[in-house]
Amino acid sequence: MPRLDQLKRDVVRVCHRLHEKDFVAALDGNVSVRLEEDRVLCTRTMVPKAFVTEDDLVVIDMRGRKVSGSGQPTSEMAMHLAAYRSRPDVKAVVHAHPPTAVAFTIAGVSLARCVLPEVVMTMHAIPTVRYQTTGTYELADGLTEPLRRYDAVMMDRHGAVCVGPDLWTAYWTMEKLEHAASITLKAHQLGRVQELPGDEVERLKRLGEKYGVPGLKPEDAARLAADEARREGEGLPSSCVGCTGCQNPARHGIGSPLDIRVARVTSRRMAVGHGGVRLGAAEDGPGAASGPGGPRSCEPPLPAGSDGLIQIITEEIARALSG
Ligand SMILES: [Zn+2]
Repeated sequence: MPRLDQLKRDVVRVCHRLHEKDFVAALDGNVSVRLEEDRVLCTRTMVPKAFVTEDDLVVIDMRGRKVSGSGQPTSEMAMHLAAYRSRPDVKAVVHAHPPTAVAFTIAGVSLARCVLPEVVMTMHAIPTVRYQTTGTYELADGLTEPLRRYDAVMMDRHGAVCVGPDLWTAYWTMEKLEHAASITLKAHQLGRVQELPGDEVERLKRLGEKYGVPGLKPEDAARLAADEARREGEGLPSSCVGCTGCQNPARHGIGSPLDIRVARVTSRRMAVGHGGVRLGAAEDGPGAASGPGGPRSCEPPLPAGSDGLIQIITEEIARALSG
């Protein structure tokens, strides 16, 4: 690990760069680096990032108590501590309010779409956690699970948190996130955002893991895929197994190119025919889609005469189940 004086200089440079790149305004944003098991160097509260100096940095412990430095630690320290607790490989956290990426959350459009190969390969996806009041433990708690699996996470109507094994890696991830949002916005303005084919997504993720990008262990991927299968409303194309980046695959996230929504993966037999796909009444089990009103059809039902589409859906489900 670099010496403390070098780390302080780097934190100052990152803060200035966040302001120069328009990722923060006024007092927004905060930066931290993990020094040792129970020590974190972070920016203090109430300081414009454009004018941060080494005197504006404080050392806190993992319970958020100040150990040294003048001023109070950032009011969003709970977010930083949650990131360090979520993964031992996280050694730095950068939080900012990149405007294009934040605008996506306000518009309700997910950035967790497999659109840019570079993003898929290095970040897998950019999920968004639901809105919570800034500076609260509820917000920090909501970040814990996604940060176990992603290096960049959006917070609804607020900003981004990026993590890395060192400060500059975390910062570059922030730049890449906003750049990806900017490109995607332009594509939206041009009228169409085309996603990468599922097999290419899988290849890019494998490439990312080959080049050392943190990825899921196989056993974790299997567990998470099983969790996904139990969650109502989640479609699971094979490229999405083990990935929960997009929370709304039918409208804004990864979805079938035909925009078909599958209720969820189920162990129940599928009855296929004109007028829709029905779930059979037998073989109820974990992940089955029955509710208080009994078995349900997948939504929306397909129009009559859609045999080709039904065939595609059936193959998609079979692939997900075998994945
Ligand atoms: Zn913030």
